[in-house]
This record gives sequence, structure tokens and C-alpha cells, in this order.
Amino acid sequence: MAPKIETTRHPIAIEIEGLDKWFGGFHVLRGIDFTVKRGERIVICGPSGSGKSTLIRCINRLETFERGRIVVDGIELTDDMRCVDEIRREVGMVFQQFNLFPHLTVLENCTLAPVWVRKLPRREAEAVAMHYLERVRIPEQAGKYPGQLSGGQQQRVAIARALCMNPRIMLFDEPTSALDPEMVKEVLDTMVQLARDGMTMLVVSHEMGFAREVADRVVFMDSGQILEAAPPDAFFGTPQHARTRAFLAQVL
Ligand code: ADP
Ligand code: MG
Repeated sequence: MAPKIETTRHPIAIEIEGLDKWFGGFHVLRGIDFTVKRGERIVICGPSGSGKSTLIRCINRLETFERGRIVVDGIELTDDMRCVDEIRREVGMVFQQFNLFPHLTVLENCTLAPVWVRKLPRREAEAVAMHYLERVRIPEQAGKYPGQLSGGQQQRVAIARALCMNPRIMLFDEPTSALDPEMVKEVLDTMVQLARDGMTMLVVSHEMGFAREVADRVVFMDSGQILEAAPPDAFFGTPQHARTRAFLAQVL
């Protein structure tokens, strides 16, 4: 049976309150307050080094933080590995550099975690994997190795692989930044489809066309702070901060 996108159970998908993080003496996240509602699509943009990756990596504990709280789908993120595991089960992540296992086929990349972490029978995991490979429109690549695929195809495999764990929230960190221009659209199309299916999504991206098309809110980060967050019309039409305007002048 085809798995269906599940949205979060809690009306608030992600709640971030007073989040502060330092790398040594460097204050990388400064008092971040942000809430993502169930089913919301958020696009985060901002200059390089502003803390975008660090922020989304905190959400599934790829980074620790010193102050504040993060609650994902009603589960508070603490040092307890059980709650970290529980949150990681809810959250799928797609990185700029795909991070596929090069020695495994596309199908094996997609079934590894479902079989070993979720204890799904292999046949069932393969059926789920094929379902998502069809969704990202590359079922015919299932037997190939990542190195035999184009960057756009690899990123679509990475998206399918994340979806195979049945996440309720998807985090994307500049998923198209490492791609040749002609491959950006095929990946964005996949993400637009996912957004239409109702997935809660937090996407770091400078693809402002994508932001306009799918974002419920666009967030601008600068120097570890959220300077503004607004629906696309307001964000692009009447940006409030001079720094947002300067940034938009560069990327639009
Ligand atoms: P962005 O994704 O917006 O480009 P990052 O979150 O990657 O920004 O990085 C924010 C700042 O933190 C940058 O100045 C970066 O050099 C620094 N930084 C990121 N990761 C580390 C780390 N592991 N150790 C020390 N500094 C880091
Ligand atoms: Mg980054």
C-alpha cells in the first residue's frame, strides 16, 4: 500500500524559544524565537555565515545549543538520547551535498534506515522505497550507484531516502546550491510537489521563485538573528529592514 505523507500530530510542528548558541567564543545564534505550525512551509534566506545551517541543524540535534528550548511536534529536545531519537524519527533532512552512501545502490540507500532503524521487513522497505523513487520520478535508477547519477538525480534520491522514514517534518539545507543550473528545476519541482502534499517544510534556500511559489512565510536571517519573517508578498513587496532589502537586491 502506498504510504501517505503524515503531518505532525501537534498543531505546532516546531517551537523555538530564546535559542542561543556559541561556537567557542563566537555567538552564532542570538535569541532565536520562531514557531512553525503544522503543515507550514518556511523558506529561510540570508547571507552566508548568518547561522541558517546551524539553526536547522539544532532542530534534529546535529548541533547542540547553550540556551533556550526547541520543541518538535510536542517533544522537548533535551540531552536525553531517547528524545533525540524520537525527534529524529519525526524529522527528515536533505543536505546540500546529498550525503548518499556511495557504495550502496539507490534502492539500498533508501532501505538502509527503514530496515535497520525502523525494523521494517526488507520487502516492505523496498516497496516503500520504490513508491518514493516513483514520486521523485527516478524508479528506473533504483539499481544504480550514486556515482552513476547526475547531481539532480542524486538529490532526488536523497529526498526519497528521507521520505522513506516517514517523517512528519522535512528540513532542507540549500538543496539546490551544489547543482548545475539545469538540474535545479527538477529538484525544486519535487519539493513543490511535497509542499502540495502538505508536508511541513523548513527550507534554507536562495531560490526566491520557489519561496514565492510555496512558502507560507519567508524568514531573513542575519548575524545569528531572525530580522524578519513574513508571507512572500509582504516579504518581497515591502521588506522592513535595510539589510533584507540589500540582500534581496543581490539575489533577485
Ligand atoms: P549559513 O548556513 O548561514 O551560511 P552557518 O550556520 O553554516 O551559516 O555558520 C554560521 C557561522 O558559524 C559561520 O561564521 C561559520 O563559520 C560558523 N561555524 C559553523 N560551523 C562551525 C563549527 N562547527 N565550528 C565553528 N564555527 C562554525
Ligand atoms: Mg549553510
